[in-house]
Amino acid sequence: MPHETPPTAPLEGALPETGRPTADVLADLARLRAGDLPVRGGKVAAYVYDAGRPEVHDAAARAYLEMLEVNCLDPTAFPSVVALERQVVAAVAERLGGHAGTPGVFTSGGTESILLAVKAARDARPGPDRLEIVAPVTAHPAFHKAAHYLGLDLVSVPVDPETFRADPRAVERALTPRTALVVASAPSYPQGVVDPVADIAAVASQAGVPCHVDACVGGWVLPWLRDTGRPVPPFDLSVPGVTSISCDLHKYGYAPKGASVVLFADEAMRRNAYFASAEWPGYTVINATAQSSRGAGPLGAAWATLMALGAQGYRELAASAMAAARRLIDGVADIPGLRVLGDPDAPLVAIASDDPALDVFVVADEARARGWFFQPQLSYRGIPPNLHFTLTGVSLAGVDALLSVLADAAAAARAAGPPKIPDGLAAVLADLDPAALDALDDAGFGALLASAGVDLDGGPGMAVVNTVLDSLPPSTREALLVRFLSALYAGTV
Ligand SMILES: *Cc1c(COP(=O)(O)O)cnc(C)c1O
Repeated sequence: MPHETPPTAPLEGALPETGRPTADVLADLARLRAGDLPVRGGKVAAYVYDAGRPEVHDAAARAYLEMLEVNCLDPTAFPSVVALERQVVAAVAERLGGHAGTPGVFTSGGTESILLAVKAARDARPGPDRLEIVAPVTAHPAFHKAAHYLGLDLVSVPVDPETFRADPRAVERALTPRTALVVASAPSYPQGVVDPVADIAAVASQAGVPCHVDACVGGWVLPWLRDTGRPVPPFDLSVPGVTSISCDLHKYGYAPKGASVVLFADEAMRRNAYFASAEWPGYTVINATAQSSRGAGPLGAAWATLMALGAQGYRELAASAMAAARRLIDGVADIPGLRVLGDPDAPLVAIASDDPALDVFVVADEARARGWFFQPQLSYRGIPPNLHFTLTGVSLAGVDALLSVLADAAAAARAAGPPKIPDGLAAVLADLDPAALDALDDAGFGALLASAGVDLDGGPGMAVVNTVLDSLPPSTREALLVRFLSALYAGTV
């Protein structure tokens, strides 16, 4: 929609004319970082995975620096990249049902691993049809993203409303001649439960369709839990019909961000994940990942983390994280109004409210005011709004403190009652239509939020935002989130 662009102030000073001393630059960084949530210590129950072992972080940091300027773009120029990746992939394959020589790719994260698995499945099915991915509603949005980027449709299937596990019969019913890939999660992130992988893979294989297991979050914790005697259902490449699996080392592998592995049952699938182009007069391009030039820091750091912890270290960390999850689950039973969704198979716990006076988004705000971050999850297709807790190696030491903050925050939230939506905001939302939203630029969107009294600084007030989002259908949530991100980077919210 054409509109007058307001005159903008000239940009000045973003780049200094002359270089600044390192100490000053680093002091700036430290000042900026002071506003971030803490990445260690276990008070942030999402996003970060803390092994609680400084020597392991140190090994990773030094390995990262060693590889800082190496470019994975050309593995013949930097053979260290091939050697490290082969060892990392083999270490993961060894624990996830692979064999010597199981083909895999080291990627920047779960999303990229999933993009490659979807590309491999798509490129195995050349033809004019628009292809489909069949995935449970609890599957990670990375599959929606892959479908969007790679030109497939995503067909969602429901999960059991009590256990939150995918229903193999529903998967079977959703298969069509266009199905290119079936998905199961081990576990799914929202409730931490493992789908019936063997049954889903059998359904897929009967239909001649590949099956990807998303073990992004669980792939490096489930094998260790099994080692310690916990029953873990079969979920990996050893299951007949499973054709690829993703496992993020930057989650329960405790490696710095930028580390995941995707494994394939056969080498032809890995070749379908690759991309080559000779359609230009420059250097020959052959990429294993979506990225082309790519720092080797994350690979070096992931490798060093694996070496520093070893199987024994991972067993200890997995057992400790699961013990923390158990303590949290048991403790929640004593907090009136709160309950755990499902029966988690991994140290991921979702906590919902049974009491209309006790709003989980307000609990999250109250916890934030007490120095803790609990991750809000919006309601979706009958699954109630809840708070998500990712327990890690460091969590057990602080789980009693976590429980007491949760109990206090719940009591305060009950006293405060559900969030009150500002009148102005309710009015704006009632009128909200996509065209009106489109007509606003980033400044206009920021002004609208401010005029409605929305406070997005992460403090009290996020409950209002979450409640508003929760009341809207997913497509409207998505439109608002895109507007919000754009306004955030524009500096207008
Ligand atoms: C984290 C996660 C992903 C996506 O991983 P990123 O590393 O954030 O790209 C995919 N699937 C599951 C189950 C996850 O937990």
